[in-house]
Amino acid sequence: MDFFGGIRRYLFSYVLLNGIFITIQTKEEVLLDMRASGDELGWLTWPLDQGEKTGWEVVQRTLNGSQFYTYSICNVEEREQDNWLRTTFIQRHPLASRVFVELKFIVRDCNSFDGASLICKETFNLYTSESDADVGTTFRKSQFKKVATIAPDEITGKNEMHINTETRVVDGLSRKGFYLAFQDIGACIALLSVRVFYKTCPGTVQNLATFPETVAGAENQPLTEVSGVCVDNAASEELPRIYCTEEGKWAVQVGQCQCKPGYEEVKDTCQECRPGSFKAEASSDACEPCPANTDTLEHGAVLCACKDGFFRAPTDPSTGPCSGPPSAPRDLSAVPQPSVGRLILSWTPPEDTGGRNDITYSVECQRCDGVVCHPCGERVRYEPASMKLTEARVSVSELEAHLNYTFIVEAHSGVSQLAGEAQRPPSRSNVTIFLHYTDPPQITTMRLVGRTSTSLALSWDVSPRPRPQLNIRYKLTYHKKDDNLDKTTYTVLTLDKNSAQIKDLAPGTAYLFRVQALGSDDNSEGSRMEEHFETLTEGNPSQNYTVLLVAAVLVAMMLIVVSAVLFFRRRKRNSHTRQGPEDTYFSTPEQLKPLKTYVDPHTYEDPNVAVLKFATEIHPSHITKQKVIGAGEFGEVYRGILKAPGRKEVAVAIKTLKPGYTEKQRQDFLSEASIMGQFSHQNIIRLEGVVTKFKHAMIVTEYMENGALDRYLRDHDGEISSFQLVGMLRGIAAGMKYLSDMSYVHRDLAARNILVNNNMECKVSDFGLSRVLEDDPEGTYTTSGGKIPIRWTAPEAIAYRKFTSASDVWSFGIVMWEVMAFGERPYWDMSNHEVMKAINEAFRLPAPMDCPSAVYQLMLQCWLQDRAKRPRFGDIVSLLDKLLRSPESLKTIADFDPRVSIRLPSTSGSDGSPFRSVSEWLESIKMSQYSENFTCAGIVTMEQVLQMKTEDIKNIGVRLPGHLKRIAYSILGLKDQTSTLSVFAV
Ligand code: AMP
Repeated sequence: MDFFGGIRRYLFSYVLLNGIFITIQTKEEVLLDMRASGDELGWLTWPLDQGEKTGWEVVQRTLNGSQFYTYSICNVEEREQDNWLRTTFIQRHPLASRVFVELKFIVRDCNSFDGASLICKETFNLYTSESDADVGTTFRKSQFKKVATIAPDEITGKNEMHINTETRVVDGLSRKGFYLAFQDIGACIALLSVRVFYKTCPGTVQNLATFPETVAGAENQPLTEVSGVCVDNAASEELPRIYCTEEGKWAVQVGQCQCKPGYEEVKDTCQECRPGSFKAEASSDACEPCPANTDTLEHGAVLCACKDGFFRAPTDPSTGPCSGPPSAPRDLSAVPQPSVGRLILSWTPPEDTGGRNDITYSVECQRCDGVVCHPCGERVRYEPASMKLTEARVSVSELEAHLNYTFIVEAHSGVSQLAGEAQRPPSRSNVTIFLHYTDPPQITTMRLVGRTSTSLALSWDVSPRPRPQLNIRYKLTYHKKDDNLDKTTYTVLTLDKNSAQIKDLAPGTAYLFRVQALGSDDNSEGSRMEEHFETLTEGNPSQNYTVLLVAAVLVAMMLIVVSAVLFFRRRKRNSHTRQGPEDTYFSTPEQLKPLKTYVDPHTYEDPNVAVLKFATEIHPSHITKQKVIGAGEFGEVYRGILKAPGRKEVAVAIKTLKPGYTEKQRQDFLSEASIMGQFSHQNIIRLEGVVTKFKHAMIVTEYMENGALDRYLRDHDGEISSFQLVGMLRGIAAGMKYLSDMSYVHRDLAARNILVNNNMECKVSDFGLSRVLEDDPEGTYTTSGGKIPIRWTAPEAIAYRKFTSASDVWSFGIVMWEVMAFGERPYWDMSNHEVMKAINEAFRLPAPMDCPSAVYQLMLQCWLQDRAKRPRFGDIVSLLDKLLRSPESLKTIADFDPRVSIRLPSTSGSDGSPFRSVSEWLESIKMSQYSENFTCAGIVTMEQVLQMKTEDIKNIGVRLPGHLKRIAYSILGLKDQTSTLSVFAV
């Protein structure tokens, strides 16, 4: 039996806390040990003079062969015992407010004494008394406080001995030291051992954090919070903390330390990763071996570098493996498919992918005529694409027959670019093929290009495109549609071009045409295409139109001849004059052929054919509508996304056709796409495509972030410089020049029909056939019939519907005015009737505020009564270009008359000013946003306003030059109220 422990004892146990096992050690710091003191105890007994009685005595005993000293007492036969035994002064640790007292003792059974059992006791009491100093032999019972009555678990009889162990806590100690005292009240006791100790949580390293030794139960707290520090090369986001319990156990660690990058945990320390391994992040993980194709020779590596010839793509994780470029595609073959006019290139993936799975291919085409090879150019089509192919196959079409083609297929991966040319293993393969389609080409489309009551003009497309030298011929067969080909006569023509004009036909009759290309020997025939077309009926109003059209074409042809003669004459004289008004069909004299001319979709019998000819059909699943951005004539306009297969996502505007439309409305709606689809110009809104084959028809155009120009200008009043405004006008003029070159007359050119994109680029829009009649809210019925946007329209167009490019030029002049006046309404609140009257009386809009004189002069030119004298769009573009090239020319500002240009109400207030309040005045000049500035500056009456100078306006916070001028001019105008307000210049 060992009931006398060493000076320090450790108690071990394991507790699961926060998912972390913490090894718990409790350490005991002994303050007093009776056993260790031998016979040097020197404890005080009381009462000092006991006479006959004996008090506590030191008794030497032997147990298991070893000798030790005990304090004993056994006054069981005498009444009223009160015998005290006091320890020496026990110094306390300043932090230990809680100490443990462990007693080992023997108590004799009272029954083992004859006749004494009645007064004999079997318990004794434990007392304590605190003191800041050793009081020596002074002993006062009253200074002691009872801690506990100590009773034995087992009492000792005559023949056997039972040693009891009891531990009591003495709490709340605060002074420098204390005494313990044992009070006997008449028992037979041997005190074998008294041990006084306090507990500590020993210094420890837990989860890579070091915590110092800590006294348990310090300052009367059951839990003591202790901060730790991470071991070398470890770090923690949070300060590591742990609690020391009053029992001297560590509990609940917060804030985990982890080994830094390049280090791993080895037995409570962080050790460097060994060469060939790495650790990228602070974590409790071990170092990992370097991934494939990487290595490091250093200790403590955070990353492993790529071995020579291997790379990481920018998107590859830096901790992942490195890879090499792919080898060349294998087994490249080119198989022509003449029947469908294409060639299939296919190959097998490279043998060595370099360890990657992002292999793509690109295809390059070279055409070789004899020994000279050239890139094939943009006409050749690749399906699905020529770059970034993920499949080992591509279809190539639009190739020409009887040529040598070389196709180079290259394998790419994420690291191809990094590998560079030098180290790259060959990653390209090529194949050369001579295309000699023995079969004749295929007809892909047949269309009607003109008709009268007795003739039809047709043309058709072929694939593959024959080379001009090949002299492909076509067989055109036709007969009346209602006739049966087998029974009646039919006509066969052999033609050497892909168009024909068929004459001497019956009016109002449908004919069935069949066209086939012939092989070079005229024996083989390509697949046929059949279409039927109808001649016009006699007396049909459009026939007259067609006659007129034919006449116009004849006139145009004569003009070509005349122009050619003139040109050659002039070239001889080496002089160059401007084109005449009718020259718009021709560009330079060198190219004496008509430019592409706009085709009115109405000339098509079936408008659905027209739309498909000029617009690409889009599958609705490729369109995502996002938000309504406007209301069109036929339905909502949405902003959305178009994602066509093989193409990048583009932002688009989607015009929809509202449900319940009639067929006529659907055709009118789609006619805008038929028109727009014929144009391709930077300043004309671009058509992306149409949805016609599904119930909800849509027109998809490029998206213009800043919306309609009039609105945009009003929102940015005074914020855009004259130079920028002229730049915008230049764009609109360039778009209009393109339209007029194509003989398209817009009829509704106005800022509301111009769209603005993110780059402040302006594009002409609104091409619907019925738009002027139905769509435009500015459209007004005129006495000559039809709806016309009066303020924007030239007088001859209003008077007798003479709409020409020259009338578009007049409208452009109005757009110029709208732009320079930041979206102001032309002719303000004058009625249409007043406007027409004023125009006829030769009045014109006055110069907007701050308008460069040259720009205003150009507007006035656009508004010349004689339309032949107005500039043409080509002239306008040149002039605006000239102004933009020398911005100095914009510095001279046109005269501005505030009385006319800033409209003032005709009603006069009683004080002579036409406004009752400052805010009413500001509202009338659209400057309400400054109301508060005026109020804060104490300017509350119109009299005060009239006293203001430009400097004062600036001082109250009006900073934008445009706004400053508008307010200043308005004040100027108010001061000069005597002039007539509704007359304007010129
Ligand atoms: P519209 O039917 O062409 O007059 O279009 C009605 C409104 O939709 C316009 O006034 C614009 O606000 C808006 N809108 C039409 N097309 C576009 C586009 N391509 N980009 C941005 N907004 C557009």
